[in-house]
Amino acid sequence: MNILIKNVHVITGDANNIYIGINNIAIKDDLIYYIGKKIPENFIPNKVIEGKESIAMPGLVNAHTHTMMVLMRNSADDLTLENWLHKNILPKEKNITRDIVKSGTMLGIAEMIKSGTTCFLDMYYEMDVVAKAVLDSGMRANLSYGLMTCNQWQKGHEYAKAFCKDFHNEYNLANDGKLKTSVEAHSVYLCDETMLRANATLARELNSSIHIHLHETKFEVEESIIKTGLTPIKQCLKTGVFDVPVIAAHTIWVDDDDMMILKEKNVTSVHNPSSNLKLASGIARVPDMLDLDINVAIGTDGAASNNMVDMFNEMRLASLIHKGSTLDPTVVNAATTIQMATYNGAKALGFENLGLLKEGMKADLILVDTSCLNNIPLNNPASAIVYSSQGSNVDTVICNGDILMEHRELLTIDEEKTIYEARNAAKKL
Ligand SMILES: [Zn+2]
Repeated sequence: MNILIKNVHVITGDANNIYIGINNIAIKDDLIYYIGKKIPENFIPNKVIEGKESIAMPGLVNAHTHTMMVLMRNSADDLTLENWLHKNILPKEKNITRDIVKSGTMLGIAEMIKSGTTCFLDMYYEMDVVAKAVLDSGMRANLSYGLMTCNQWQKGHEYAKAFCKDFHNEYNLANDGKLKTSVEAHSVYLCDETMLRANATLARELNSSIHIHLHETKFEVEESIIKTGLTPIKQCLKTGVFDVPVIAAHTIWVDDDDMMILKEKNVTSVHNPSSNLKLASGIARVPDMLDLDINVAIGTDGAASNNMVDMFNEMRLASLIHKGSTLDPTVVNAATTIQMATYNGAKALGFENLGLLKEGMKADLILVDTSCLNNIPLNNPASAIVYSSQGSNVDTVICNGDILMEHRELLTIDEEKTIYEARNAAKKL
């Protein structure tokens, strides 16, 4: 399908050249064919979208979430991490069934599309159910599945490994390459040294990456040092986890030594400001990481600790909290924040040609309404995206050249049915 978007403000996703003015965008099949002032002579669109009252930008990449946990939102708030996890979340997770995962994932995917996310990195149980929901929705995703989440590891690592490999062989690069897989190594506090090594070996054998929670709390780091003499980051270094590409959520309590390891090993840090503030985990050293050229992406984490999966909310917070905590209003500016939420995430998730509005890139893009009250006057489009827009201002979502939402109507998901099923599923938790 050929789509022409006319007269639209273009945000590129590249912090060094974030806004390139009003242009026409031609999409041919799954790729951005042209961006410029003219309309290519040989281009015959099947669909024309008037972009006059819109900003076009790359689809947002939610680089760390547990999608299904939208079913647990607003159910465990204002609690210590200990109470939140052990007295509320883990007991709920004992009731989880494949149907509940399916309903929750569909709800989360619908919420993500409606707030401009086209791609996400997920870590949860029953990943084959999640994969099917992603395939149905037409979204792009990287799904993490490892020796612990496959629920088979008690039968022995070799058995679990074979089980995981089947998942990866079935879903990696499925659906025209829109689906990718990675290896989940939940955290150093849940994976002992043997488990970390086994996941690292699995990732190496699959030529894949590892998705891990790392240095989320002060307690996690202190406990690791007491138990092993090493910080979790040094444990990862020792066990070969960092010998494959790693996407590390949180990385809050990181000293200078550990930060240099992240840099040398090209680890991506995923910043989850809402979750970190809500659970009082702390504030990641994002300005320092950016200064060192560490790849920093943005994620919502699960909605049990957010309580949304809206990347607009996350971008705004990601920019604001560091200004407050460093007393420097110039850090994590709007352009940098947009790049973190788009290109940096796409790169971390292993998607090539993604995350920038540029000719030849994958056609994952969103149109944000500039005629809504909170975006008038527009003045600066990059500022509008980070500081004054909300997820509900997203009008149209295109992923891989396919329209997933048009004028706020979901085209691949039955919204009413999704809400009905999610309400029923939540009652069973
Ligand atoms: Zn998480």
